[in-house]
Amino acid sequence: MQVRTRFAPSPTGFMHLGGLRTALYCYLFTKKHEDGKFILRIEDTDQERLVEGAVEVIYDTLRGCGIHWDEGPDVGGPVAPYVQSERKDSYLPYAKQLIDEGHAYYCFCTKEDLQQRREAAEAQGLTWKYDKHCLHLSKEDIQQKLDSGIPYVVRQNTPVTGDSDFDDLVYGHIMAPNETLDDMVLIKADGMPTYNFANVIDDHLMGITHVIRGMEYLSSTPKYNLLYKALGWDIPQYIHLPTVMRDSKHKLSKRDGDAYYSDFVKKGYLTEALINYLALVGWNPGDEREFFTMEELQQAFSVEGLSKSPAIFDINKLTWFNAEYIRKLDADKYLELAKPWFDSVLDGKGIDYTRLAQLMQGRTEVFNRIPEMVAFLGERPAFDTSLYENKKQKSSLETTPDALKLSISLLDSVSDWTEENIHKALMEGIAAAGLKNGTVLWPLRIALSGLLSTPGGAIEIAFLLGREESMRRLESALDQLA
Ligand code: GLU
Repeated sequence: MQVRTRFAPSPTGFMHLGGLRTALYCYLFTKKHEDGKFILRIEDTDQERLVEGAVEVIYDTLRGCGIHWDEGPDVGGPVAPYVQSERKDSYLPYAKQLIDEGHAYYCFCTKEDLQQRREAAEAQGLTWKYDKHCLHLSKEDIQQKLDSGIPYVVRQNTPVTGDSDFDDLVYGHIMAPNETLDDMVLIKADGMPTYNFANVIDDHLMGITHVIRGMEYLSSTPKYNLLYKALGWDIPQYIHLPTVMRDSKHKLSKRDGDAYYSDFVKKGYLTEALINYLALVGWNPGDEREFFTMEELQQAFSVEGLSKSPAIFDINKLTWFNAEYIRKLDADKYLELAKPWFDSVLDGKGIDYTRLAQLMQGRTEVFNRIPEMVAFLGERPAFDTSLYENKKQKSSLETTPDALKLSISLLDSVSDWTEENIHKALMEGIAAAGLKNGTVLWPLRIALSGLLSTPGGAIEIAFLLGREESMRRLESALDQLA
């Protein structure tokens, strides 16, 4: 049997991390199978929610992440079209077939009708599921309403007794009493199918063998299965995935800026790190490995490694992965990626970015943390003179003025402003004065940067700042102590 899976996003303009993980698992699962086909289907039947450019966001995100589809709107394929709105006409005939066979019915009730009947039922202490009111209209009545253009929806006629059950490859055996299954809408008043209907029709017509999707669809799946059965179709295998959560109580949310792929790209997370970590949110390889390329994921992935417990997306863990991936970048690539972040606070300051990048690469966890770490090179922040006090470095407020004066005279003697020359001049001068290195270098770094901790020491910072700026900062630091 050829494995055929699909990723079926709705074009909202954003790629939710949960959706991206679904796409990833779908892709990995498919690629485990010889000649497996991974299909991209755009679910845009909710016409009110359409967003311009949203389909491109889906394409760009998936491709950028190394997730490639074999069939889809832009690449075509044997069961085209792959956009649901373009398949609009294929759903109604199936709805009609279901109506003819008693598995669905035209419903002409307005929202108000339904509300009223719900309230009446509840007033009598009855739990109101759905009263199948329109199911009992006569054929003539129905035809007359249709002819006179009264708006209608098509509802599924779910059984009221018995149970529905199925096996999910992650969640195991699922059983639902039919009385809990509502008569969901299949065709909306605008003639478009609901997701609930379209997913069944399309998954069948597209030959989908394994449905891989978020577990929010698990509880509706018995209703989908009733539709498959009513239409005489094979039910696919199901792989429902646990929701990606921020912690045990909260979902990732738009408001917290932690829900969308683009949020993380904007902050300066690397796609490779994100994909690597995302793969592990809800799946484990069964051994101690943590680092995976896409090829390695394809090798390692298996349904058995999927977990049904809530999948916690730990931002700290992602950040750790990201730092590891950043460390492994080529120096040139790091510089290319860091440059806009350097520019945001250092543009026009004449800083040697190549050297700065060398100092920063091992210290960058996320690119958006760069500006606050390097901003002092553009402008020294105001600082308290207590920073000069450091017992271990043998530096105090008493030793600092002379130490700074010594630094000024030693740096003044450097003719060619290279790190090597700065180093030599300072070390020789400190030794000649019979001082400890820390007594001079600690206050020097504080005076140059205004910060307790910096990427790089006094010598690197002096080099990056240049002679003039270094001297200016040292003189003003001395003034501050006077
Ligand atoms: N369009 C649905 C969504 O975006 C797809 C669910 C499914 O994969 O069946 O959640």
